[in-house]
Amino acid sequence: MHSNCQYVVFSDRAYNAIINESFKLHPNETGGILLGHILDNGCWIVMEVLPPGWNSVFQYAYFEYDERFVNYLAQSVATEYEQELSLLGLWHRHPGDNDIFSHTDNDTNRTFAELNIHGAISGLVNIDPTFRLTMFHVSHPLHYNKVEIEVGDSLIPVDYFKLKHYPEKGLNPMPPTHREITEGVLPNEQNGITLEINDNIQKSKIIGSKILSFLDSKYVFFLISLISLVITLFSQHLYNTAKGSAEGIKALYHVLYAKPGLDTFPVPYSVASFKVHFFIDCVWFFTLLSLLVALFVRYRKTLFAFAKDIKTLIP
Ligand SMILES: [Zn+2]
Repeated sequence: MHSNCQYVVFSDRAYNAIINESFKLHPNETGGILLGHILDNGCWIVMEVLPPGWNSVFQYAYFEYDERFVNYLAQSVATEYEQELSLLGLWHRHPGDNDIFSHTDNDTNRTFAELNIHGAISGLVNIDPTFRLTMFHVSHPLHYNKVEIEVGDSLIPVDYFKLKHYPEKGLNPMPPTHREITEGVLPNEQNGITLEINDNIQKSKIIGSKILSFLDSKYVFFLISLISLVITLFSQHLYNTAKGSAEGIKALYHVLYAKPGLDTFPVPYSVASFKVHFFIDCVWFFTLLSLLVALFVRYRKTLFAFAKDIKTLIP
């Protein structure tokens, strides 16, 4: 058996994922994890490419994976296939035409290569200005060997595409009842046939679920602070307009405090002024408080992680 990689074959889906991720994050660095198979003829097959995760760091000349996310997703995706996928290596984007690994890259590549007796593969993407992927086999102790790339599902044995829970294997515990499946078209397809009603229902469903998830999320506190900010600014504006005259302040006091039917009761200017002031202070206070709560809810994980780091620094 060849211990080293001779060439790398990407499935259409895997190669597409690299291109998609590169251009999506352009001009920042990004990357991903390669999953697939190592054949005994030195051919490495990349079936899936995992995204780097939402806690990754994407910068112009720097990139870091969200390790927890990647480990989690790798487990999930690799076991979906009848022939489970293995971790093959990684890829990442470099700025300009730089296709040489940095010291940090060497460390990362070494870590990956040590996980498998056959080493790992590591790819570099450059957009200078066209998309270019350079692939290396990484052995340990650290040594790079540039390898050729092929792309296409047709180059990969069909068995590798089989998923574990194929209905024809009888593994589906609850097969769907047979129903008439009418031929549908995607709304934006070139032939222009769109099922408008379905499309609109679909759209409103998507908008509905987006609103629900928004309300459900940590952003709801930002919404509250935004609303209270609007109320605060409006009452501050009313106050600024009224503050020149005693009559104005009294009128504002009645708007803010008086109950219907009781507003004929004469109120001293000092009381009206005090209460109006108090109201303005309260709304400002509430706005700031809700903003603080929103920021806390949004960034509490980072805050706790930071506190943990500080704790480890203190002996
Ligand atoms: Zn790099």
